[in-house]
Amino acid sequence: MDDCIFCKIIAKEIPSELLMETEDFVVFNDLHPKSTTHLLIVPKIHVPTLNEFKPSGKVFELIQQLAGMLEQPEYKIQVNVGSSGGQEVFHLHFHMVSSFKLKSIA
Ligand code: 5GP
Ligand code: ZN
Repeated sequence: MDDCIFCKIIAKEIPSELLMETEDFVVFNDLHPKSTTHLLIVPKIHVPTLNEFKPSGKVFELIQQLAGMLEQPEYKIQVNVGSSGGQEVFHLHFHMVSSFKLKSIA
């Protein structure tokens, strides 16, 4: 989608601290971290709402994989979807916020 910042990050048209890329998702650091670790887990295709989200199981596998890379597997997930929740970016994304550091990147 032309005016979507996450689509531009995925297309590498604007830079990001990309940590991981799978078949379906990219994971990068939030520009304005709310804690020690603040990742954004974003489907590679422009998904406006959860209603159109197909690889729904895979995101939890990815979250568990990322949790295993934290110094301790303690974190919060916030899912932002749709356009009526006051969020900034209308491309489905999962915030993963933790007060523990990532100890490794696959
Ligand atoms: P939300 O839509 O869930 O309210 O917030 C979108 C998130 O994307 C925010 O936490 C914001 O800091 C982050 N964000 C917005 N623009 C960029 C950007 O250009 N690069 C990165 N890495 N994160 C961004
Ligand atoms: Zn998008």
